[in-house]
Amino acid sequence: MAPDFVEEFGQVLERMREVWLAPNGQPFVIAGSGTLAMDLAVANLVEPGDKALLINTGYFSDRMGAILERYGCQVDQITASVGERPTSEEVRDALSKQSYKLLAFTHVDTSTGVLGDAKGWTQLAREAGTLSILDGVCSIAGEELRQEDWGVDVALTASQKAVGVPPGLALLVASSRAMDAFRTRRHPVSNYYADWTNWLPIMEAYEARKPAYFGTPAVNLILALNVSLAQILAEGMEQRFRRHREMSQAIKEAVTELELSQVPTKNEFAASTMTAPLYPEGVDASLIGHAKEAGAIFAGGLHPQIKNKYFRIGHMGITDSGEVLATISALEKGLKKAGYNFEPGRGVAAAQRILSG
Ligand code: PMP
Repeated sequence: MAPDFVEEFGQVLERMREVWLAPNGQPFVIAGSGTLAMDLAVANLVEPGDKALLINTGYFSDRMGAILERYGCQVDQITASVGERPTSEEVRDALSKQSYKLLAFTHVDTSTGVLGDAKGWTQLAREAGTLSILDGVCSIAGEELRQEDWGVDVALTASQKAVGVPPGLALLVASSRAMDAFRTRRHPVSNYYADWTNWLPIMEAYEARKPAYFGTPAVNLILALNVSLAQILAEGMEQRFRRHREMSQAIKEAVTELELSQVPTKNEFAASTMTAPLYPEGVDASLIGHAKEAGAIFAGGLHPQIKNKYFRIGHMGITDSGEVLATISALEKGLKKAGYNFEPGRGVAAAQRILSG
């Protein structure tokens, strides 16, 4: 209720529209993790018996499928094999066979590093009169996203990834089409905490610089979010997208130079917020421990089909050239310790070639 907090929360909501590039969107900031943001999108848009098409590119698409089903949705899936993404033709074809209320997809699947075709798939959904939900937990504020231009109806994320705040906030922006679909529901939302009926008046009140209460806001995280959104906007969205692409290219070139393949089968759909290299012949997950000793923390595999065959490097948010070089250097030291035969320095040099433009 403190006037200075009311002002900061109001700013957060305004700044989210700028970061999402959704000038007419309705932002929501609610205490919880990214999974709550997924739950919010589905609980408020889906009614029992609705049909949804899910483009499944990995672990978090599976989760979206489970959430859709939990709210009584009939879900059809287009499942890509690991490291692939479906073609536009496959998506167009599926959308033309049935009338779907919703199309859901993961923008960057954190388990594979596969980048969804957000612009193309959303366009196809629009043409079919279908709403779209984009899970942007591993993308928003790093990967290019133009919510309103592209016509994405719900773009959701969490505070802890490219937004650069500690974990604990579910963030999303809903289009006016999504809000209309919510307002014309036939049944009440079946999740009490997630119901926009409870939260919309709160978001509207704070934006009008008036305090309002439904559930206690995560004050400290919202203050941190305001700082981060201001930093993101000071950099500018175009520059931010460019920097993420450049840091990603440096890491990917280095990994390729070291003769490690990546999970995404084509560069054109490899994310710019993360890289998912496969362990080279003779190297296993002990690499992660060696790299940690050398100063870089890599995540292990997550996708159940290839869990022990690859690792993941996150490079979203504030990642800069210095961190990229330190990371590749640690990767090289880790590979050496793991007994891999290569010429040290090649990866660092490849990254530096990209970074020095
Ligand atoms: N979707 C994607 C693409 C994610 O990467 C994650 C988290 N890694 C989630 C959803 C779930 O977010 P959280 O762990 O914050 O609940």
